[in-house]
Amino acid sequence: MNKECINTLVYIPELCIGCEMCWIVCPHNVFGANNGKAEVINGEACIECGACQINCPTAAITVNSGAGCASAMMKAALTGREPSCCDCK
Ligand code: SF4
Ligand code: SF4
Repeated sequence: MNKECINTLVYIPELCIGCEMCWIVCPHNVFGANNGKAEVINGEACIECGACQINCPTAAITVNSGAGCASAMMKAALTGREPSCCDCK
């Protein structure tokens, strides 16, 4: 079930210390826990808000926040659907 998504979220598991911040702050439950580390469980739901990147203490997450989020918000406003930067749903 490998979908192509247009968001810019990049997660590097080797840098994760399992502090849990990313799945606490993410508004769309993109991250979950796996063996004491973060795991991307819902990547297509990412709206590129940047909260995970800001709160990750080890820079294990990068995301190009700003343009994608604004675009998702506009699309959501026009369609009446949940904001998402991915067109694969
Ligand atoms: S950028 Fe925002 S929506 Fe995307 S994974 Fe991070 S916290 Fe969740
Ligand atoms: S915020 Fe960073 S270090 Fe903490 S669980 Fe998420 S990826 Fe790992």
